Amino acid sequence: MSQQQSFKKVSAITGMKDILPGESARWEHLEAIVRDWLAAYGYRNLRAPVLEHTRLFARGIGEVTDIVEKEMYSFTDALNGDMLTMRPEFTAGMVRATIEHNLLYERPQRVYAMGPVFRHERPQRGRYRQFHQIDVEALGFAGPDVDAELILMLARLWKLLGLKDVRLELNSLGLPEERAAHRQALVAHLETHIDVLDEEARRRMHTNPLRVLDTKNPAMQEMANSAPRLFDFLGEQSRAHFDGVCERLHDAGISYTLNPRLVRGLDYYNLTVFEWTTDRLGAQGTVCGGGRYDGLLELLGGKPAPAVGFAIGMERLLDLWEQDASYDTPAECDVYFVHQSEAAQRQAMRLAELLRDAGLKVMVHAGPSGFKAQFKRADLSGAAAAVILGDAELQSGRASVKWLRQEQADNQEQQQEMPFGQLVEFLQSRCKQKV
Ligand code: ATP
Ligand code: MG
Repeated sequence: MSQQQSFKKVSAITGMKDILPGESARWEHLEAIVRDWLAAYGYRNLRAPVLEHTRLFARGIGEVTDIVEKEMYSFTDALNGDMLTMRPEFTAGMVRATIEHNLLYERPQRVYAMGPVFRHERPQRGRYRQFHQIDVEALGFAGPDVDAELILMLARLWKLLGLKDVRLELNSLGLPEERAAHRQALVAHLETHIDVLDEEARRRMHTNPLRVLDTKNPAMQEMANSAPRLFDFLGEQSRAHFDGVCERLHDAGISYTLNPRLVRGLDYYNLTVFEWTTDRLGAQGTVCGGGRYDGLLELLGGKPAPAVGFAIGMERLLDLWEQDASYDTPAECDVYFVHQSEAAQRQAMRLAELLRDAGLKVMVHAGPSGFKAQFKRADLSGAAAAVILGDAELQSGRASVKWLRQEQADNQEQQQEMPFGQLVEFLQSRCKQKV
């Protein structure tokens, strides 16, 4: 058997999706809206590597979290033995870069990143192993103004996209000493309910008791509902911070619910935490999560500095957006060149460059094909017009323009002849009418 025959075809890794051209147009459309939206608030792009040292995440996200305990793609660098991890979220890397390049030396920073993150989870709707986040961080700001600004920003994005039914849940995780006092009370509560705790909860009750309350196990709901609430342990300063956020949300007309059970899956949060959720995405209803992480810069070896941010899950956002807003896949080009001979094709390539200079999107049929096959492709491309170059057209220095879409054909003659020298202007004015 030849090598070629014995090679079994390779498919993508489970939970990692190809985003094909038909779908990617919508992604690019979203990304363009998102970039404009971020620019409207003065956010700048920070691009950190996908790979980081494992210890960055272990330290930054917390050893006893779902992500670090079981979701990270980590491996040993065969060249030098370093333990490396594919980023499971953006914040740790953004903070590392901020510290490493001393970005807060001059002034606080508003930064964002967009791209793939990796978590080894059980794939299902809204849960993938490679997924994408829009990550936004305001570094060096103590709030509560910036906390509120981030939430206002998100409300604006939902509005820009025409999303309905996304709800805001808000909580405060207070300051470290308040969490310590609450933790004592919580562990005592968990101990008295030890018989209803599942294995994971028993394991976590001393390492990360707050996360035990985040359980989805129905048998533990009553225990979780009756647990002491961190919110009740907040001191004056934490309450004032929380009120400061709420007042500004009120000013902006943004409604929210206080969810005292909201803790978020990462260890680094304090004070403000929030999530935007919807009922329309099945079990994975959280579109965006964020909060304040004032201790993280110091924890990662930087000078202490306050910070707050959020991450949006792009697959979930797109899923929701598709339900709320129809979208016409844009045409691949405005003009498609159909030609008869090699000489005609070479002329088509020259004319196409001139049309592109004028800002039109142009495809020239590649390879030898009959007119019928070429017109079929022209049609599939979604082009408004086909430009036909046959031998007769080459001789006369004129091209035939055929309108392919009903709306254009209605307004002008179905097919028109045009001297090469006038083609650019003619097509430019007609095709732009469409936009
Ligand atoms: P969940 O509770 O759904 O596991 P999380 O708390 O782990 O979410 P974050 O770490 O806050 O999620 O990530 C921010 C956002 O990224 C989430 O709100 C969600 O929209 C999205 N997200 C998280 N995990 C996945 C995944 N495996 N696949 C697709 N999107 C995800
Ligand atoms: Mg998770």
